[in-house]
Amino acid sequence: MPEFKIALKNCGKIKPFSIESYINHQGYLALKKTLQMTPLEIIKEIKRSKLRGRGGAAFPTGLKWEAVAQEKYVPKYIICNADEGEPGTFKDRVILSQDPHKIIEAMTIAAFSVGAQIGFIYLRLEYPEIFYILERAIIQAKNKNYLGKNILNTGFSFDIQLKSGAGAYICGEETALIKSVEGKRAEPVPKPPYPTTCGLFGRPTLINNVETLANIPAIILNGSTWFSEIGTKESKGTKVFSVSGDIKKPQAIEVPMGTALKELLELCAGVEGSIKAIQVGGPSGKLFNCLEGDGLNLSLSYETYLGAGAVIVFNTKRNLIEMTRSFLEFFTEESCGKCVPCREGIPQLLHIIKKILSFKANREDLNKLEKMCKLIKITSLCGLGKTAPGSILDTLKEFPEEYSIYF
Ligand code: SF4
Repeated sequence: MPEFKIALKNCGKIKPFSIESYINHQGYLALKKTLQMTPLEIIKEIKRSKLRGRGGAAFPTGLKWEAVAQEKYVPKYIICNADEGEPGTFKDRVILSQDPHKIIEAMTIAAFSVGAQIGFIYLRLEYPEIFYILERAIIQAKNKNYLGKNILNTGFSFDIQLKSGAGAYICGEETALIKSVEGKRAEPVPKPPYPTTCGLFGRPTLINNVETLANIPAIILNGSTWFSEIGTKESKGTKVFSVSGDIKKPQAIEVPMGTALKELLELCAGVEGSIKAIQVGGPSGKLFNCLEGDGLNLSLSYETYLGAGAVIVFNTKRNLIEMTRSFLEFFTEESCGKCVPCREGIPQLLHIIKKILSFKANREDLNKLEKMCKLIKITSLCGLGKTAPGSILDTLKEFPEEYSIYF
């Protein structure tokens, strides 16, 4: 199956610093079209497209927009979640750095649909060059009256501000992200209430990921039917994957939902060496065994597993327990410390993994490791703690022989 570009369509084709270049590629046409529609009509169109969030949670985008639109309290806010902090994920950076106006246009359409007047792009601290690109694009859009007061003389006003994250992985979690935009310590809080009801400064807030927004102008211009005919039953449209690891051509690549893993790898010029395993969704994702069974025939869609779209390839020379050690070091560093199972439990998992790797562990340690993983998974407050033990549980299940050599 070949590449199919929607979110990445302009990347590499247009000049990111030129609004004219974006306009010459149908830029801001979708905004003009939506300003002739009612908010209800736009939301119906997004719902019909069956677009789901591309940041990992896969929540139906149209339903989210509808929930915010139905709220009575004002002001309402929009946040573009550009806090791309998962190791192995770099697709949002490609979209923002090469096609910044698409995100500004999509946010303005979303704002008009839900009744928001202020939006924020919450950007990963490690992307300072993108801050500059977006800053310039916002000024250009305001100068052309696609953003700011009385947009295209319709009476609708919307402004976008840039916020840089605190450089922590947890800032990508919706409730922690909101705290960070408010200038507070980025700690997750239990849901409900959901941000659509009680979000930024206690007001209804729409939070969409960069890639999700990058699909909006194309859905408006080509229609929801066009979009919903791409992909699988539960997963419509395309997905941008960040492919890295033991692969000949690491890159951000967009394919229709449902594309087989082996086809994706072929589009990236194939694997360096012989494939052993694939981690889909980064350290918080899922490990697939490609040595046995039909791992390579895995259909990449929400029906199987996607996460935020990171695909990390491991060849047969890789030690997968070393992989879990590196993931656990990451989670230990990134835990916000709010709840005990995550704050205390993940370093304990790391301790046992290091003990195994230095041939000092026994079978009892292995049993303890598995039990602790299950406990941390169910007792942690947010996604970080719930997913951190995943790589251990997956390696224990799919590659038990990798552990056996240490006992
Ligand atoms: Fe913080 Fe970890 Fe608890 Fe999430 S699970 S709230 S990151 S301590």
